Amino acid sequence: MRRSNGVSDHISIAAFDDEQSAKALAVRLSTEGVEAISSNDSAEQLLMFWNPHPRGQHHVLVPGQRLEAALQWLSRLDANDPVLLAAIRCPDCSSTQVEYPQFSRKTIVGSLPAIGAALGIIKRQFYCIACHFTWSPTETPAKGGSR
Ligand SMILES: [Zn+2]
Repeated sequence: MRRSNGVSDHISIAAFDDEQSAKALAVRLSTEGVEAISSNDSAEQLLMFWNPHPRGQHHVLVPGQRLEAALQWLSRLDANDPVLLAAIRCPDCSSTQVEYPQFSRKTIVGSLPAIGAALGIIKRQFYCIACHFTWSPTETPAKGGSR
């Protein structure tokens, strides 16, 4: 699951709906000695998956060789630590290594499912890299009901 948009050696360890939270975690990790960056893949979600409503598009990425260290640091963090509060978590194993939509990147090589999703045939879901659980993003991010 290497990404090739200029951060080729980086691996996503957490995904957020909002940029602020992703940046905050990246900064925090950097102060812990793990060079982390945040990256917004909504353009990628739109171009590759025809998804105009990205979710979890703000990723925190670490260099591949620091993945272990970063995950260990995350696991030592209190679940209520504000820096992780907004992270999207797997409802099954509570990992923060999630992707959206589920057929992205290495999951299924796939423009076919992406087209299906664009047509409304296949529902876009979150995907847990750790345990391969998929779930629907029923809860919209808390940003004040604008309706
Ligand atoms: Zn999981």
